[in-house]
Amino acid sequence: MKPESTREDIFYFREVEKAPVSALRVKKETRTDPLLSAVMNMIAGGQPARGDANLKSFLGRRSELSVQSGCLLWGRRVIIPLSLRTQVLRQLHAGHSGIVRMKEIARRSYFWWPNMAKQIKDLAKNCSSCHKVRNNPPLAPLHAWEFSQEPWHREHIDFAGPFEGKMFLVAVDAHSKWPEVAIVKSTTTEKTIEKLGEMFSRFGSASQFVSDNGPQLGSEEMHAFLQANGVQHIKSAPYHLRQNGLAERFVQMMKHALKASQGQGTLQQRLYNFC
Ligand SMILES: [Zn+2]
Repeated sequence: MKPESTREDIFYFREVEKAPVSALRVKKETRTDPLLSAVMNMIAGGQPARGDANLKSFLGRRSELSVQSGCLLWGRRVIIPLSLRTQVLRQLHAGHSGIVRMKEIARRSYFWWPNMAKQIKDLAKNCSSCHKVRNNPPLAPLHAWEFSQEPWHREHIDFAGPFEGKMFLVAVDAHSKWPEVAIVKSTTTEKTIEKLGEMFSRFGSASQFVSDNGPQLGSEEMHAFLQANGVQHIKSAPYHLRQNGLAERFVQMMKHALKASQGQGTLQQRLYNFC
């Protein structure tokens, strides 16, 4: 476990580290999965067994199915064999992410199986930790412009907390929905600039930066810092449209996950599991 003093570090979340099961295992389990074997047989030119109801969801996708290195693909997504689905679902919900977030992770991680969306829903609904903290506030609505065409073009920034004595600086990429979260002890302009500088040095500056008019994010100093990095700063009007809905949504989901996972590891680990 890391010492307390490193808690202020920015944690960068990499998809690869969250890969729930290895390609090798998928390959091995696919080979012994009767349904997926039948699908592979069908792709190879065999005739599907007549009236096999289980094959139905594959038949409609037939032209988009392929086999690569022993794994079955639907488009770019790996089809997870039955024997690994429980494990993948459990991994998806490890940080007590809600339905929306779990589906987002599944989409970004490129995996799929028939009925996956329903099973995600059932799992999130039946988790006892999630039940204890459920208050179901409606998620912040998204402003039309929040669907960006390219990654790391527009970042939505917000603060969350205090939670367990810490504050969180959150940056969400409008295109990929990729979150960056820095746990910080204070939210002074100076600290915020330092953390944003670290993010920029990793990913390059975003072209646009959307925030509310909070004292740190709306300050002259912040404005100058962004200008020096070539970032256009857009301050969302608090009483007008909810332009920063993307960051707000993420913060709502993060709060839920951190509450539901209380007592299940350090704040840092729980944040990592969620993101
Ligand atoms: Zn849960």
